Amino acid sequence: MRFYVPTDIYVEKDCVKNHAKEMLAVGKRALIVTGHSSAKANGSLNDVTEVLNDGGVAYQIFDEVEENPSTDTVRKGAQIARESNADFIIGIGGGSAIDAAKAMALLIVNPGLNADDLHKTPSHPLDHAPVVAVPTTCGTGSEATPVAIITNHKINLKKSIPHRIFPVLALVDGKYLASAKKQLIVNTAVDALSHMVESILNVHSNTLNRMCPEYGLKLLGECKEALIASVAANNSATQNTSQNAAPIDASLYEKLMLTSTIAGMSIAMTSTAVPHGMSYDLTLCKGTPHGPAVGYFLAAYVEICHKKVPNDVEKVLSLLGLQSVEEFAEMLQKLIGTCTVTRELRDQFATAMKTNHSKLDLVPGGITPEEVEYIYDKSLMVK
Ligand code: NAP
Ligand code: FE
Repeated sequence: MRFYVPTDIYVEKDCVKNHAKEMLAVGKRALIVTGHSSAKANGSLNDVTEVLNDGGVAYQIFDEVEENPSTDTVRKGAQIARESNADFIIGIGGGSAIDAAKAMALLIVNPGLNADDLHKTPSHPLDHAPVVAVPTTCGTGSEATPVAIITNHKINLKKSIPHRIFPVLALVDGKYLASAKKQLIVNTAVDALSHMVESILNVHSNTLNRMCPEYGLKLLGECKEALIASVAANNSATQNTSQNAAPIDASLYEKLMLTSTIAGMSIAMTSTAVPHGMSYDLTLCKGTPHGPAVGYFLAAYVEICHKKVPNDVEKVLSLLGLQSVEEFAEMLQKLIGTCTVTRELRDQFATAMKTNHSKLDLVPGGITPEEVEYIYDKSLMVK
């Protein structure tokens, strides 16, 4: 058994300022990589630039990362990094900005590597520039994983690249969630939930690496009523919904961020499984945000695993404070609703998934083509 997360991780309020010294030690010239606007609005960009200004580290800002970052964006950012002689990359934002930062860190020290070839497996591990990660969503845990998920529109592929890029430093502060819409918090929390569930219901799960998802699921269980209440409050203008709990507020931001980082550490050890494998085509074809795209498949995956590893599924449910797989499915439905696709798309997704052995081979006890079909039938409404 092995546990290996080499990232120096701090989770606390005012983390970026508190650990200025650690960030300034990473390099002499930074490229800051963000999405279009959220890092400016939530104060994270300002926190980072203040530290760099005070510490005399030069920087350039690349604020063009889109959701589900593309090879073209990564190429553009890496070009700017090279032109400004950046020797490290700071990714600020959700998983999209941090993943793009990782891929740029790879390209800047491998000038022979074309962005369009990022998904090709290299003959030997490639080096990369150091990455600092400042997450502002509570979902991907990218600050604590070696994974970068990049989309190549030329070949219609959304997938993790085969290169392993752990950030050297992760500065995790829940306060950046204050400006996020409640549904973004809920959607990304569903991603973190999926990471932990897929990490336990996984052939690579063992007693050592389970310490992360088991603790994280307990934390998420403590937030679940508030997450459900937030969605209900959002919908209350159109529906007469009764709520038992208060919606998410500042008191839960740090817990949600911590859970997300722990969920990242979970998949760093096991990798994600079938629901993530199924999500990528849904996002690619319908633009479904990552958290719900995974979450739609999660309950049926848990149901299938219940037949194979019942004790593990019971453990997941009890940590979340749930009684049954049905209750788990109901919780997800309250959080993200349902997803409808055409028959043609559903069949196209299922056919492709049946050959995706990188994910299918991770199911404890194996999975049959009929069970793959069952997950699609149970998870997607067909019109
Ligand atoms: P995201 O795509 O990074 O961001 C979604 C949206 O939220 C963007 O419009 C962004 O705006 C906005 N946003 C971010 N932080 C905000 C804040 N604090 N307040 C208000 N708005 C905010 O979302 P994500 O779910 O975190 O990342 C999804 C990506 O990560 C997918 O590509 C997924 O496949 C990948 N992923 C990676 C890993 C991994 O281990 N590396 C694991 C799971 C998923 P701006 O564009 O203006 O910033
Ligand atoms: Fe994910």
